[in-house]
Parts: sequence; C-alpha cells; structure tokens
Amino acid sequence: MLQQTQVKTVLPYFEKFLRRYPTLKSLSQAKERTVLKLWEGLGYYRRAKNLLKSTKQLAKINFKLPNSLKEIKKFPGVGNYTANALLAFIHDKPTLAVDGNVKRVFSRILNTKETQIDFEKLIKTNESKIFIKKRNSDVVEAFMEFGAIICKPKKPECNNCTVKKKCNYFNNSKHKKINLKKKLKNKKINVFCYVNKKKQIGLTKNSNVGFLKTFVLPQIKNRRKYLSKDWNFLLNYNQNISNKRFNINLYYKFSKKIPRDFKWYNVNNKNEMIPTFTKKILSEIEKIF
Ligand code: SF4
Repeated sequence: MLQQTQVKTVLPYFEKFLRRYPTLKSLSQAKERTVLKLWEGLGYYRRAKNLLKSTKQLAKINFKLPNSLKEIKKFPGVGNYTANALLAFIHDKPTLAVDGNVKRVFSRILNTKETQIDFEKLIKTNESKIFIKKRNSDVVEAFMEFGAIICKPKKPECNNCTVKKKCNYFNNSKHKKINLKKKLKNKKINVFCYVNKKKQIGLTKNSNVGFLKTFVLPQIKNRRKYLSKDWNFLLNYNQNISNKRFNINLYYKFSKKIPRDFKWYNVNNKNEMIPTFTKKILSEIEKIF
C-alpha cells in the first residue's frame, strides 16, 4: 500500500484491510472484487491484484515464504525492493530495501544526487558496516524510519541527528548543497467524455494510458486532432498523480452511442470501483445536468 502512497493516506486503509483480512489465510480465500472495493481510493489497483495473487500462491506452499531473492521475485508484483524487504523482515537476511527514504539518507550523507549513486554496489561494499549479525530486519526498518523522521525530505532534523558529523550534506553548509527536490513531470492530456440524457458517462477499462490502466476511465487522447466541433469544452484543471502533474482539458458530448469496450456508468454512482482520477471527472460532469 505504501508504494507511491504516503503513510497518512495508507493508515485508515491498512487498518480496515487488516480488520477484514487478519491473516494470510483469510486473504487467500478472498474474492478480487471485495479486495478491490476495500482498496478503492488508494489507486494503483494492480498492487491489490498482485497481493491477492501472491497470497493465493503462498497458500499452495503452506504460507512458507522462500528464502532466496530469486524465488521471492517470482511472486506477482514483487520486485527487488519488496523481495529485499521480505528477506530482511521475515528471514532476517542482511539485505536493504532501498526505498525513497533510504535513497535520500545515503544521498545526503554523501551529498551526491540519488541518480549518481549505484545503491547495490554501495551496500555490497559497505555490508559489514551496515549490517549486524542478528536483527537485520531492525536495521532495514531503522533506515526507513530514520529517513521518515530525522532525515526528512523537507527540513531534516540535522541538529538531532546522530550521524551529522559524518554527513557531507550537513558539513557542506558553506558549499553548494545538492538539490534533492524531485521535479514533477508535466503532462498535458485531453479527456473526452461521452454522456447521455440519463446522467450516464461512457467509461472503459481498456484505456491505453499507462497510469490507472485496467480501471474505468473516459476517453483520453493526447492529440487535439481528435477534437471535432461536437465536443464541448468543460474546464481545464491540474491534478497530481504520483510524480506527474497532469494538465487536463475536459470535454464532453451528448451521445446515444459509445465506442466498443465502453460501458455506461451513472455519474453519481458511488458504489462502483472508480479511481480518484475518474471521480474528479464525474463530479465535474455531474454539474452539466
Ligand atoms: S545530518 Fe541532516 S542531512 Fe545529514 S543525515 Fe542527518 S538529518 Fe540527514
């Protein structure tokens, strides 16, 4: 859940999820639709699907997680980061799950841009300094927490930091400090909504846009060539999703027909599993009726 999503957003979802599925066994028996409904609003629904698939696979091996990186990475949606975290948390292996927090800590201590650091090599060369013989799971968690609580993205708590003497970022106050702030990528998109007199909107699960793929979206086209006279301009607004800032031109037209692969949805239907991106569009479209 924490992938691309902040802790404060995740917490209520996580608690609700654990109340519904307190054990891996209970999750392994769940239906995808129920899991996705619980996930609604968190975005990146592929995470929920993969979590469910992985749990069902684990059920087949009696919930015993393999203890090699290669084997763990065979589970759906499990990449290097998750595999390393699981190896450390479950098997206490000396591996470091390199997330945004860990990258920032190293980047600040070395006062070098994250993109210029080979983290795998760095960890391997310093393995004996980073890990202790036991409780490697605590080391991994400590790194993450240190980045979240002390070496924060904005205004790091340098005066309370136990490694400040060795930190090049802190000791370089007279020199130029690297700019750690990530820039949002701007993307302009045109969204075309088919609507009908019954207050319905045409949405598809087969959109070819990378983000929110496989979820219900209206027609999205990058090219304004698609625009013809019968599309009405509704509004222009910005919406941030992950590291992208979308500048959205929203158009609509009344139509009895919708393209193949589209279905009609009531614009005020609150029960469908609809991503936040589409919800914002529905709330704007609702105003035209
Ligand atoms: S001294 Fe400041 S910048 Fe350096 S590691 Fe500590 S909190 Fe981060």
